Amino acid sequence: TDTHSKGKTPRRPGPKKASNIERDPVGVYCRIRPLGSEDEECCVEMISSTTIQLHAPDGLKANRNGEYKETQYSFKKVFGINTTQLELFEDIAKPLVEDLIHCKNGLLFTYGVTGSGKTFTMTGSPGEGGLLPRSLDMIFNSIGPFQAKRFVFKPDDKNAMEIQSQVDLRSPFKFADMISSEEACKSENVDEDCCYSVFVSYIEIYNNYIYDLLEDAPYDPIRSKPPQSKILREDQNHNMYVAGCTEVEVKSTEEAFEVFWKGQKKRRIANTQLNRESSRSHSVFTIKLAQAPLDADGDHILQDKNQVNVSQLCLVDLAGSERTNRTRAEGSRLREAGNINQSLMTLRTCMEVLRENQMCGTNKMVPYRDSKVTHLFKNYFDGEGKVRMIVCVNPKADDYEETVLVMRFAEMTQEVEVARPVDRPICGLAPGRRHRNQAFRDELSRRLEERGGPNDPVLMTQLIESLPALPTCELVDPNDDQTLPRLIEVLERRHRVRQMMTEQFNKTANTVKSMLQQFDSQLCSRDAFLHDQQSKLSEKDKVILNQKTEIERLEKKSKTLEYKIDILQKTTDMYEQDKRSLQQELETREQRLQKELSERKRLEQRMQGVVTDTKLKWEKECERRVNAKQLEMQNKLWVKDEKLKQLKAIVTESSGSGPAERPEKPERPSRERDRNIAQKRSASPSPLPKALPAHPKHRRSHSAGGEKWVDHKPPSNLELDTVMQPIIPNAIKVSTPSEKALSKCHKYVLRHQELASDGEIETKLIKGNVFKTRSGGQAVQFTDIETLKQECPTAPR
Ligand code: ADP
Ligand code: MG
Repeated sequence: TDTHSKGKTPRRPGPKKASNIERDPVGVYCRIRPLGSEDEECCVEMISSTTIQLHAPDGLKANRNGEYKETQYSFKKVFGINTTQLELFEDIAKPLVEDLIHCKNGLLFTYGVTGSGKTFTMTGSPGEGGLLPRSLDMIFNSIGPFQAKRFVFKPDDKNAMEIQSQVDLRSPFKFADMISSEEACKSENVDEDCCYSVFVSYIEIYNNYIYDLLEDAPYDPIRSKPPQSKILREDQNHNMYVAGCTEVEVKSTEEAFEVFWKGQKKRRIANTQLNRESSRSHSVFTIKLAQAPLDADGDHILQDKNQVNVSQLCLVDLAGSERTNRTRAEGSRLREAGNINQSLMTLRTCMEVLRENQMCGTNKMVPYRDSKVTHLFKNYFDGEGKVRMIVCVNPKADDYEETVLVMRFAEMTQEVEVARPVDRPICGLAPGRRHRNQAFRDELSRRLEERGGPNDPVLMTQLIESLPALPTCELVDPNDDQTLPRLIEVLERRHRVRQMMTEQFNKTANTVKSMLQQFDSQLCSRDAFLHDQQSKLSEKDKVILNQKTEIERLEKKSKTLEYKIDILQKTTDMYEQDKRSLQQELETREQRLQKELSERKRLEQRMQGVVTDTKLKWEKECERRVNAKQLEMQNKLWVKDEKLKQLKAIVTESSGSGPAERPEKPERPSRERDRNIAQKRSASPSPLPKALPAHPKHRRSHSAGGEKWVDHKPPSNLELDTVMQPIIPNAIKVSTPSEKALSKCHKYVLRHQELASDGEIETKLIKGNVFKTRSGGQAVQFTDIETLKQECPTAPR
């Protein structure tokens, strides 16, 4: 909504209530004034640089039965009667002025009973200037050379500043020196790259009315109504200000002080004319400092409203703190006095509530609005700033009781804390701009002078003055032969001078021309240079832009690559994990394989053993079978032979010849052959004993009785220790059967043994009956085979 083209002070951020803000207690100082006369009773004693002691005056002690004791009060610092105005200034006001120059607000007030030295401390007297003239002096000593031209800063009606680019005339000022030059103070760290302007305002608060002491409208004594009170407003930074109050821009200490005295004078006149008690009014002198940075050239103020900073220092001379009954007030003046007392009461109450809120963490409302004085300074306590109070004490006995009250208030006030002002951000321009600009200007004028400067004006004047005056040229005598030649001569001389002047002029013109040409060429070359630089710059800009895009591209690429790397890393991790698990599996499988392999080997070995065993067994079996078959075949052969023999015998018998009775060559028969013969015989109708039943079981047990046996045990037989052995009583044991043994017996048994590879022994008892053949031989008919098996327990089954 800001339609003004002029810059305005920007709104600062509102006060923060955050706990991290640094806070300082109100600085309370005590100043003791000297007694009016030496012989007066003194009730105040300074016992250290920070403590005073009050003694009740003798009269009071007597009245109160001496119950009053000495009381001590401590302050940040106590200033004794010999303190100079300068010492006081250096300790109390100088830091506030430093702050002001660095854009921080300050409030300084004097408090005390009437006559205790408040005004003396604040204003002072000639030769003993108080804090106010010293503060002004220090400000101008510090910012003097860096001041903006008058009216560059212009206060608006909202307690802010505008910047004007047009400047105006200066006004004369009166000289008023309160301070000796050797006492001059100066801030050492002023920002030289800023422009400063000082504005002062001066108000009086009386009976809760605000009067502008610098208002130009003269007070009209004929008007019955007193001037209207100004009203208070809050600006955008939450500072309270007197709406419509005159703010005078001042450029020097003298000018500022002149303005102050003007206000003072007005105050005196008003007090007299309105019949006021002057000690009952508060006066507020405000020094406002506007500052704005110089532009980049260091030549002009930066036309940027956001860079304008305004700080203020309020110097307050409060009304006397004594109670009303002490003044001889009556009627309306008593009421007024009541109001004045009211404003100091409010001040005390505000401090009390503030202190309580701060100490107890309560949030009681502080009644700033109850009086103009407290309302005006509200933001110093609610917002930020540095607050200092000088408690003035007159040690005389009359003031004792009031002084005690003043001390109590002062002690309490010390416990109130105010947020410390924060440093304002500085503008981003390079420092040293003002200095560089000045150096440039100096150099420029030096160079101009070197070029010959403006042409010799003295010579021109001389030439003009040297033009000879024209003689009288009145021709009265026709024979006058002097006037004309004289005139001619003069004119010729003038002509010569004119020629010289023309020459001079031409010379000057030429010089100027050449200078101009030079300038022009310089300008051209500068232009070219500038152009060149600009093109270079734009090229560089392009390069930078390209590089920037390249950087962006690379950044993007690197990001993608990073992403890829990330993914690859993850993949690698996964694969590695896979690898690990696969390796593990491989290992287990290998182990299993190994196990299986060894198992198989073992099995193979065993199988081989089994195979060899089986082979052996079968070989033996085959052998056995072959043997058995051989035996059987032999037996068969034998039986056939026997048969043949018998047949032969029969044939020979039937043919009646004896020789047939005996076989030609009686072969020893095998039992097989015997049996076969027997079998053949049983089939024949011959009287040969009949064959035994096919399977007579356990025949041996029956036959073992009375029959006689041929026990044929071949020598290859093994002797066995078995329990189960054929025991045959009455047996004729033979290793080969003989005709003789057979003829004595009826029974025949052959012990046939077979040995298996596993150590198994099978014994077969092949039994038969022995009978006599017709030819007188013996034959055996096999009737039974018993088998005995002996197993070796260690052999595999
Ligand atoms: P207040 O303003 O508190 O009413 P003033 O400043 O007017 O008191 O002082 C009253 C008188 O005492 C004045 O004449 C002043 O010159 C004198 N006085 C006050 N303080 C001092 C001081 N420290 N040294 C010398 N004179 C002082
Ligand atoms: Mg005073």
